[in-house]
Amino acid sequence: MTQVDPPAASSAPDDSDLFDLTIIGGGPVGLFAAFYAGLRHMKTKIIDSLEELGGQLTTLYPEKLIFDVAGFPKILARDLAHQLIQQAMEAAPTISLGETVRHLEAIPTPEGTAHPLYRITSDKGVHHTKTLIIAAGAGAFSPKKLRIRDAATFEGQGLHYACRSKSVFAGKRVLIVGGGDSAIDWCLNLRDTAEAITLIHRRNQFRAHEDSMRQLQATGIAIHTFCEIQQLESAEGRLVAAHIENSQTKEVRRLDVDAVLVQIGFDTSLGPIKEWPLKIERGSIAVNSHMETALPGIFAAGDVAAFDGKLKLIATGFGEAATAVNYCKTRIDPKAKFFPGHSSEMTPQHESTVTI
Ligand code: FAD
Repeated sequence: MTQVDPPAASSAPDDSDLFDLTIIGGGPVGLFAAFYAGLRHMKTKIIDSLEELGGQLTTLYPEKLIFDVAGFPKILARDLAHQLIQQAMEAAPTISLGETVRHLEAIPTPEGTAHPLYRITSDKGVHHTKTLIIAAGAGAFSPKKLRIRDAATFEGQGLHYACRSKSVFAGKRVLIVGGGDSAIDWCLNLRDTAEAITLIHRRNQFRAHEDSMRQLQATGIAIHTFCEIQQLESAEGRLVAAHIENSQTKEVRRLDVDAVLVQIGFDTSLGPIKEWPLKIERGSIAVNSHMETALPGIFAAGDVAAFDGKLKLIATGFGEAATAVNYCKTRIDPKAKFFPGHSSEMTPQHESTVTI
């Protein structure tokens, strides 16, 4: 079995600093894990590198509708995040935001306990925990950027890599770049907000969902395939046009635009977590049917977890979170049942004190 760094000589943490469960990642899966840990009366902490909770829901697509979360025929990503945050806060977890986890080590086992504790070091401090769930999604993510000269100078001046609020594009002529779900979804979501939308894609095949493509074609939005931005043009400090080149004909066309929204994917990295002695499979963390990694007491759930039959969906991540939390509980307290019963028969640990 692979091991983390050997126990350090330092003393065990005070009880007040020690958590039953620490969750790396405050995305939908980490949030649901925190709530579920409350049902199991575990003292829980969430650490996230972002300044707000919600993971991809709040950071990447807050105004996109989600249709495949059970119980919600449709829900805005931002609203789902709010509901999850509210639910998680019923467990009153400790929340540490703006902190990126870097290092993991085992620390001496306190007397009377069977398992080592873990010390997690972030860029801001140290945390001690009996068990850990890594719900880090794709890790720290950053949007892929346009590779054209001076692109950086247009950021904040009409060039966008995310849509945090539709109002930014209100009444504007918007050029959307990309051929995947994000690009097509933004064409559909912004069509009532923007004055006009043009879509360009460097190929003539789209990776977006068939149904989204059907909806897109019905909108009459102008679509230019085999096209990429060659140059952006500004006047008086603001974006006024994009020059797009057709890679087949080499024709360059000038489009009058007020805003460009680039949705060509993300560079993601698990960063330092990849250096931990976990089994990494195609960029994700391999887990067994308990959602436990190669390191005992360290679990993974959500997008970051890899196993045969894995689906990277919010719906399946919730189930993975519940499994991981229940096994964390039995690791801490071997007399506890793995299946605690149904939530309808339980009393939440705390009343919510959070207003969102
Ligand atoms: P994430 O949401 O990625 O959250 C992980 C969190 O971990 C992040 O907040 C990150 O900051 C934090 N983190 C990472 N590394 C560290 C570190 N070292 N230290 C501290 N914090 C760290 N799924 C669906 O089911 N239905 C949909 O309709 C749907 N639509 C989507 C549309 C788009 C445009 C995108 C991009 C995704 C969509 N998804 C959809 C996928 C869904 O968003 C993910 O499956 C889900 O967010 C995974 O949740 P998670 O909690 O595992 O990870």
